[in-house]
Amino acid sequence: MASKNKNWEYAPSLETTDHINLKKKYDLFINGKWLKPTSKKHFNTINPNDEKHIAEIAHANHKDVDIAVKSARKAYDNVWSKMPANERGKYIYRIARLMQERSKELAVVESLDAGKPIREARDIDIPLACNHFFYYAGWADKLEYAFPNRKVSPLGVAGQIIPWNFPLLMAAWKIAPALAAGNTVVLKPAETTSLTALKLAEIIADSGLPDGVVNIVTGFGDTGAAIVNHPDVNKVAFTGSTGVGKIIQKAIAGTAKKATLELGGKSANIIFDDAPLDQAIEGIVNGIFFNQGHVCCAGSRLFVQENIADRVVRKLKHRMKSLVVGNPLDKNTDVGAINSKEQLNIINKYIKIGIEEGAEIYQSECNIPKKGFFCPPTIFSNVAQSSVIVQEEIFGPVLTIQTFRTVDEVIQKANNTPYGLAAGVWTDKGSRIFNLTTKLKAGVVWANTYNKFDPSSPFGGYKESGFGREGGMHGLSAYLKLS
Ligand code: NAP
Ligand code: MG
Repeated sequence: MASKNKNWEYAPSLETTDHINLKKKYDLFINGKWLKPTSKKHFNTINPNDEKHIAEIAHANHKDVDIAVKSARKAYDNVWSKMPANERGKYIYRIARLMQERSKELAVVESLDAGKPIREARDIDIPLACNHFFYYAGWADKLEYAFPNRKVSPLGVAGQIIPWNFPLLMAAWKIAPALAAGNTVVLKPAETTSLTALKLAEIIADSGLPDGVVNIVTGFGDTGAAIVNHPDVNKVAFTGSTGVGKIIQKAIAGTAKKATLELGGKSANIIFDDAPLDQAIEGIVNGIFFNQGHVCCAGSRLFVQENIADRVVRKLKHRMKSLVVGNPLDKNTDVGAINSKEQLNIINKYIKIGIEEGAEIYQSECNIPKKGFFCPPTIFSNVAQSSVIVQEEIFGPVLTIQTFRTVDEVIQKANNTPYGLAAGVWTDKGSRIFNLTTKLKAGVVWANTYNKFDPSSPFGGYKESGFGREGGMHGLSAYLKLS
């Protein structure tokens, strides 16, 4: 879709889909084989760009989950926990290399199923997912060096539940450390974005990984709940909403199950008057419009020092004019499709609330296609700390803008939220960065950049953003018993 601003019209540059190989119907990947669900039910997955049907996906019920957990237990007891650690590492490397070989296909499938711009899927999601496998493959035979003077042992069967915003990347964040630490896995992708996890199942089968070490069961919330409640699951790893995170915490209370929960966020992006402004504008855009704002750590609350607020807002609006919103498969697209109709309705509900609260709205001038789920990049100024749109997670391309005068004021405002996943600080002063990184209650604080990820650095939240860390050695320890 072209921008209304003629200066920013590009000829379409569509990525081809000829090279992708999708089945019409996917069953469950259990014990190294494709099993029909005992539920006998399949559901449709659609392309959020044009609402067209892509494939049918199996809906696993509690019996299917039980079969998957039993297969993971058998593989753990008989094969995976007995295998020398360097052999385990070789399988994980092999999965990483096979993913890399098929990265183009994985990127296109991710873009089709999730609505994600192909550029992001190709340059960020898929390479990072491969890198997680490479990184953790290296740790498999070095666990005692990672945790010196401690006895390390795996936990057993890990039940893993992931959301729709980074489908393959979240699967990699979960599976790679679990395998490196010597656990076996039952993973459930989100219902709207199962396809890349199922492609990963094909890769895992091709890698020769012993049967049952990784099982992928697709379905809805009831499938996730069946994993969480299964008595033979030793560890629950969940990424998703704070609401479901609370249900999971209640469900496992009083059991011996270990858990890590990565939940929602309402992260602050803070711009001081000595910041390199053009870079900061890119950081704001990347922080909230990247992946349609479907980012748990999105910089969804902008704090600008009062004396530069007008300039920043003017520059930001100008930059928003050049954002290309449209077909995710087009290489020019900056902002793709919202993942589902339900999510679009949630975002639109919040935009309405913002207008009713009296905030001033500005939206990118772009044509929204009639089909598909799209939301123009949106900013709200003239908001209060108590505004609903400032307090609640929107999970879409919607930014609120507030101003501040002093460092203490912005720290207080930035921390005034139930969440604490991430923050960004833009300033020329190193001392100010260090001051803020110690005082902002957020798991990740980026300085003069935003939304940068690396497998070696831990990621996770404070307060209602969850607990436990993924990535790095911290992510490894979440899958180990250390004594
Ligand atoms: P969600 O509704 O919590 O779903 C996450 C996963 O849990 C999905 O696979 C979902 O299945 C499943 N699920 C739903 N109900 C369940 C239950 N009762 N028991 C077990 N599993 C259940 O979240 P979402 O709407 O997919 O994702 C958006 C949210 O995730 C946002 O709030 C965002 O901030 C958060 N998020 C956080 C992070 C992080 O790292 N902290 C990363 C990404 C997203 P179905 O969807 O298939 O029904
Ligand atoms: Mg889909």
